[in-house]
Amino acid sequence: MGVSDRISLAEVARATGVALGSFDSASVAKALGGFASTHIGGDTHPTIADISECLFFSPGDGRIWLQDQRMVLLHTEALGAMRREMVDSMGIEKARGLFTRAGYVSGARDAQLVRKHWPDADPPAAAMAGTRLHALEGVVKVELVSVTYDPDTSGYEGEFIWHNSSEDDEHIAAYGIGGSPACWMQVGYATGYVSTLFGRLIVFRETMCRSMGHAQCRVVGKSADKWDNIEEDMRYLNAREFVDTAAYARSEAGPADLAPSEAPAGDAMVGASSAFNAACHQLSRVARTTATVLFTGESGVGKEKFASMLHRISPRKDQPFIAVNCAAIPETLIESELFGVERGAYTGASHSRPGRFERASGGTLFLDEIGMLSFVAQGKLLRALQEGEVERVGGTRGIAVDVRVVAATNEDLRQAVREGRFREDLFFRLNVFPIHLPPLRERRDDIPLLMNHFLNHYRRKHGCNTGGFTQASVRTLLNYDFPGNIRELQNLVERAVIMADADGLIDVHHLFTGGETLSAEVMTLRMQGNSGTLNFEGAPACANPILAGAVSPQSLEQTERDTLERAISACQGNLSAAARRLNTTRAKLAYRARKHSLI
Ligand SMILES: [Zn+2]
Repeated sequence: MGVSDRISLAEVARATGVALGSFDSASVAKALGGFASTHIGGDTHPTIADISECLFFSPGDGRIWLQDQRMVLLHTEALGAMRREMVDSMGIEKARGLFTRAGYVSGARDAQLVRKHWPDADPPAAAMAGTRLHALEGVVKVELVSVTYDPDTSGYEGEFIWHNSSEDDEHIAAYGIGGSPACWMQVGYATGYVSTLFGRLIVFRETMCRSMGHAQCRVVGKSADKWDNIEEDMRYLNAREFVDTAAYARSEAGPADLAPSEAPAGDAMVGASSAFNAACHQLSRVARTTATVLFTGESGVGKEKFASMLHRISPRKDQPFIAVNCAAIPETLIESELFGVERGAYTGASHSRPGRFERASGGTLFLDEIGMLSFVAQGKLLRALQEGEVERVGGTRGIAVDVRVVAATNEDLRQAVREGRFREDLFFRLNVFPIHLPPLRERRDDIPLLMNHFLNHYRRKHGCNTGGFTQASVRTLLNYDFPGNIRELQNLVERAVIMADADGLIDVHHLFTGGETLSAEVMTLRMQGNSGTLNFEGAPACANPILAGAVSPQSLEQTERDTLERAISACQGNLSAAARRLNTTRAKLAYRARKHSLI
């Protein structure tokens, strides 16, 4: 055993006396299901032997690794027991969804492993690696029937036979032969794996299944827009019914012939990652109540979207939903905007008018960027929340309001409380039910789904037939840090759809046209602070003098000063805009800019 106390599969075999014979790739392949011989292109890398070298047993510290992912050896019977209990307690539909999504996450992880480890593998070989990983993990033996991959359109279609499906074994043991396919997790895996690899939603469906009495299972995978009734499949991929299904629906006419879509692209809720699902479950739980909800998370993660969805699935859905961005309204006007004004309250107040609170009566009031609220307005808001009444500016009597308040912030409000910028009593009043929305880089499994969604949306909107993404651009997007989160991805895809040739593919230079200088700078800073790796292969930012400057011996202070200076000048001195580009708050940016005497 090496210093690292990790042993490879081959060493385990030797140590435990498993007869693998002399350890070479052919014998491992044979021991693991004989793919090398049954697969077309079985010798292309990564082979089953290449992949099995990623598997490490580390019994000394109780861990098994598939490269950098921790794995467990679980009895299939335990998995079967869990599956059965879930079906019995929550119904087959819900259980099927749960397993499909867990499989999706697993497939997406394996695709990331292959991408990272064999960046040069051509797309069909990388796709085949998924079948080998699936077998290595003991899930199913995969036999290739046919696969087509068109590099010009990045179109993928595959058909496979599944032998010895572990899921079918457990399903048949529990329920016998039935009328519908049962390899839920495996279908989710294939969908997650291939979609992550190609940066577009490729949906797999079981057309035959051992649980339906067939000799083996047969699966077909193709682009979501090539399936009929894709909503059926999406039902299982989406954690909640309000998660978008229409975003993937088949378009009868060519994209260019479709009427521009009315709904803004950012309006759709799209995702299958566990972080996204957790937020959806919380949302659905709290929607039926009147509890105050506080959404937290970085700029661009979709807080407004979640807030309006909260309203749409709540009992108040037929009443008004009023949204106020506290940062967009000048401090002097925010009080009259929120609470209304009585005639003669100040010069120019010629009419009495209700504020947003009164207009939202019976419905939901969404206060975005709540951290920007003035201290006086904070006091009035607290009173409205505690007593259910507001007082107009210049008014003398309280007006009863029945409003559900939903707030959002990208600031750390606890920190704001410590710094005396935010009332503690208001913070506790707002923080009844916090929902944290993770940044996109922490839900990377959703990137292919979002790419697919925005591509479809902007093809329709701009009347383009853009085919999809090149492998280089998929790789770049999956590795990019997205300081601007979903909104940034959305902007990148819209720009790329416009920039790319009418019928061509989106390449890296269509996505990153140089305007990303600033995000590259942000990434540079992060790179110095963290040990995290930044993989920017193929992106023009590599040739960027600013990125190159990151390796010159420059102090962190100087780097910060340069970054701030560029951001502020790029935004013509608008500090709020500069703060957004650097993914920080205006207050923090202003503080640092003052420190460097930039303002
Ligand atoms: Zn099956």
